[in-house]
Parts: sequence; structure tokens; C-alpha cells
Amino acid sequence: VARNPGEAEFHQAVKEVFESLKPVVRKHPDLLDSKILERVCEPERQIIFRVPWLDDNNQVQVNRGFRVEFNSALGPYKGGLRFHPSVYLGIIKFLGFEQIFKNSLTGLPIGGGKGGSDFDPRGRSETEIMRFCQSFMTELYRHLGEYTDVPAGDIGVGGREIGYMFGQYKRITNRYESGVLTGKGLDWGGSLVRKEATGYGTVVFADQMLKTKGESFDGKRVSVSGSGNVAIYAIEKVHQLGGKVIAFSDSSGYVVDEDGVDLQLLQQIKEVERGRVSDYAERRNGAVVAKAGCIWDLPVDVALPCATQNELDGSNAATLIKNGVIAVAEGANMPTTPEGIGHFQEAGILYGPGKAANAGGVATSALEMQQNAMRDSWDFEYTEERLTKIMERIHADCAETAEEYGEPGNYVMGANIGGFRKVANAMAAFGVV
Ligand code: NDP
Repeated sequence: VARNPGEAEFHQAVKEVFESLKPVVRKHPDLLDSKILERVCEPERQIIFRVPWLDDNNQVQVNRGFRVEFNSALGPYKGGLRFHPSVYLGIIKFLGFEQIFKNSLTGLPIGGGKGGSDFDPRGRSETEIMRFCQSFMTELYRHLGEYTDVPAGDIGVGGREIGYMFGQYKRITNRYESGVLTGKGLDWGGSLVRKEATGYGTVVFADQMLKTKGESFDGKRVSVSGSGNVAIYAIEKVHQLGGKVIAFSDSSGYVVDEDGVDLQLLQQIKEVERGRVSDYAERRNGAVVAKAGCIWDLPVDVALPCATQNELDGSNAATLIKNGVIAVAEGANMPTTPEGIGHFQEAGILYGPGKAANAGGVATSALEMQQNAMRDSWDFEYTEERLTKIMERIHADCAETAEEYGEPGNYVMGANIGGFRKVANAMAAFGVV
């Protein structure tokens, strides 16, 4: 804490992982001698830079850019870029730290990193977004490369922003280096299923958890927070598996649609018009913007937090449990507070932490890198099959690891230990680096 003052989210993420690692350290005290724990929570490199740009009124704006290259023991740094006004070093470090173990769980050769800016894309014109992205990449490009560091999207960064950044990278370097960014458009090196991957993967993970109790999504009531990339495709997969999503949200509130979300309408509003969830309620018969409370007050069988960190606290968890929730799987990164996690675990609720449940996005990014390296592109069915298999394996690994350490059903422990082991082994093999 003293070394990293004021980085609350980073402290929270490290504490959770280190709690889970206690039995590993008891079994392997050499981990302490080689200072693997100290090394793993110290980023290999962090870059903070100025992002100046001109708005539509020709006024100069200045934002701050970040890239934390956390750990490259298993492969090039890999992790998204977040554009949101709340971004500061503590958020990027928490996300980068989580990414190390998540990427390890995928079984694919990717290290951990994360980046972004405190730029707020909301209310900005298309040309402002483009100028910002170009300025951001004008500094970031020198730190990237398909064997070095490969960013992707996150909150506030989707296909449009990746396009502007890829265009600027290509222009500055004079290299068509497809493998330098993932989440690209399908006509210029992107992968089918990447857009859907995080949401789909989260639901596949939840489905695997349900199966351990002889349950499935069929006929289940589900709430999904957020209405961005992860939320939309989580909703689609829940519907494909026979469940019904009855609520979703954005930072202004939540919408209840007891008939089940009309996904086409939601996609039109969010992906095409870039509108708000209140626009959905205006255009959909029977859907309402809730006047009070929060999305977690609704009685559901399965809850999928897919918006942002610390959006589900202890009292939200208690309400969900009282209302009969049986499973919670995190599409977002660290959306449940430590108190919330404690409640779910004490009540024996199936709880899938983000670093396992939402790993499908980065896994499919790694599949995009494979296709780029092969100068090839795979069809939707094959790519989705790969994603599904990866998620099933991550679930099995977490479950088996939790069992090995005497805590069956503790996916937090399974994910943290399972992710850490490979990274620690590689770091040990490399010596003191
Ligand atoms: P988007 O920008 O597409 O959507 C984010 C959604 O969350 C929006 O509905 C947004 O509402 C809401 N939201 C964001 N910040 C807040 C906040 N402070 N309070 C309430 N609501 C908020 O992002 P993604 O869907 O890509 O990402 C969502 C989560 O999933 C993040 O935690 C991200 O790190 C995680 N994730 C994403 C992956 C990906 O592939 N995209 C991969 C793995 C994890 P509003 O529009 O009002 O801001």
C-alpha cells in the first residue's frame, strides 16, 4: 500500500489474489525466497503520457494516456484500452494485474497489460473521437508490436476507436502489422466472434457452473448490468440457451422488460444510434425505466454484472440472495466488492469471478492474433467452437484447482491459483528478471 499510494482498486485486486495464494505459499515456501509475489505485483513497465488534441471548436484539450505493461512471462503484453473519465493509474494497474492471471487461464501465449485514458467519449463528435485516437496512438505506437504489446478494446473503446488507432499506427510505422491490435474490423484483419466473445464466454462459463448443480439456463430469469459490448452479447447467448433477460442498465439507470429483452432493438439503439437505455424503454411496449433502487433489487435466478468495477456491493449481494439467485458470473472486471463476494460464498451461490468468466474476450483476441499470423480467417462456427472449448476448459481448471486445494466450488481460489501457477513457473524458469 505504501509503495502504491491512493490506488484503491489495485490494492483490492492484489489483496484478493494474495488471499487465495496463501495455501500455495504454504506448500511452496520457495516462492517467498524468490520474491515472486513482490515481482508479480510490480509492473514490468508503466507508461504515462500527454494526449493533446483539438476539439471541434479548435480549442486545445489535454488528456492523460496510460499503458501498464505488467507481465510478459507467458507472451506479449495483452489487454484492452479503456477511455472513461474515471481512469487513473490505480484503475489501469488493477485491470493489468487481473489480466495477467486471466490470460494465463486461457492457456494461450499472452502476457498481461492494460491501458487507456481519462478521455470521456460521451458527447464527443466522430471527428473529435478520431483526433483523440490519432493523438493517443501517436505516442503509444512506439511501445507496441505484435511480439511486444497488443492492445484491444474495453469500456469506451470498440471497433470504431480500434479502426482510428490502427490507421494511425499503420501510417506512422508504414507497416501493415495486423497483429498489433485486436478487435479489428472484419475487412481488415478482425476475427469473427471477437465482438461476441466476452459476453458469450461469460454465459458459457455460467452454464458450466449451473451444470455442476444439474441446472441450465433453460427457463431462467436473468439480469445483465450494462448495455455495452459485453452486456449485449451476454444477453444474446442467454436467449440462445433458453433463458430470459429481464433487465439491463447504463450509468443513468436500469430498464425492466418482463417480456424479455428485444435484442435487435437494443442493438439498433446502442450499436447504431449510440443511444441510451431510456431510448429503449420509450420504443418498446411494456418496458420501463425503473424509478428507484438498482438492477440487483430484481428477483432473478442468474445475475450477470457486465458494466464496471465495484457495481455490486454487499447489500446488493444480500438482496440477490434473499430473492433466490443461484448463480452470478462476471462479464465485467471486478464488479463485485469483497463484501459481495463474501456473501455469495457464504450462501453457497455459484460465483464465477471475472478473471475466469470473462476470459473469452481476450482468448478470442489471441485467436485473432493466430489468424493474423497465418494470414487467414476462420469461419464463425469454428471460431465459436474454439471459444466454447476454451471456456469449458477454464471452468474445469478452476473447479479442479479449487478441489485440489480443499475448497470445492470456490472459483475465486481456483482462478487465482490456476492463473498464478503458470506465470510463477515461467518467471522462476527465467531467473531473477
Ligand atoms: P462498453 O463501453 O461497451 O459498455 C460499458 C457499459 O457499462 C455501458 O453500458 C456503460 O454505461 C456501463 N458503465 C460503464 N461505466 C459505468 C459506471 N461507472 N457506472 C455504471 N455503468 C457504467 O464496455 P464493455 O462492454 O466492453 O466493458 C464492460 C466491462 O467488461 C468492463 O468491466 C470491462 O473491463 C469488461 N471486459 C470487457 C471485455 C471486452 O471484450 N470488451 C473483455 C473482458 C472484460 P454508460 O454508457 O452510461 O457509461
